[in-house]
Amino acid sequence: MRKTASSSRSTTSKSTPTILPSVAVRRAFKAAVEARKAAHAPYSKFRVGAGLLTTTGKIFAGCNVENCSYGGTICAERTAIVKAVSEGETEFTDIVVVTDANEPAFPCGFCLQVMAEFFTDDTWIWIANTRGFKSVHSFRELVPKPFGPRQLNGTNK
Ligand SMILES: [Zn+2]
Repeated sequence: MRKTASSSRSTTSKSTPTILPSVAVRRAFKAAVEARKAAHAPYSKFRVGAGLLTTTGKIFAGCNVENCSYGGTICAERTAIVKAVSEGETEFTDIVVVTDANEPAFPCGFCLQVMAEFFTDDTWIWIANTRGFKSVHSFRELVPKPFGPRQLNGTNK
């Protein structure tokens, strides 16, 4: 298991996390709450923010950006990941996803697939609303059998 910025966690999920998020994760939460304010969600009205923490300690924030075609919509998590990758950051320890819903809102399948490109089994996904953290899960827990870059190794491309 790779050491993370907040490495005092076990690999099991915590519903209503009993562990305290690290200072860095709390900073990512604040960045997600702030980014959520910029959400372009005129169709669903469901505003989402994401705060992505890199192994180098940087935070990239994102919001959902909906499109009138609907199919052109990009989620907050992918916005944050694309921002980070476009600036040369491809290794991540945690992502915080913030909505205003009482029910935990997990990343959608598209976002989980994009996460599979960059996240390790032990990258942590914090589910939160604007009032605080709801749960924390390893990427492996949410996607136990991902289709990732390693599946392409050994092919005759
Ligand atoms: Zn998504």
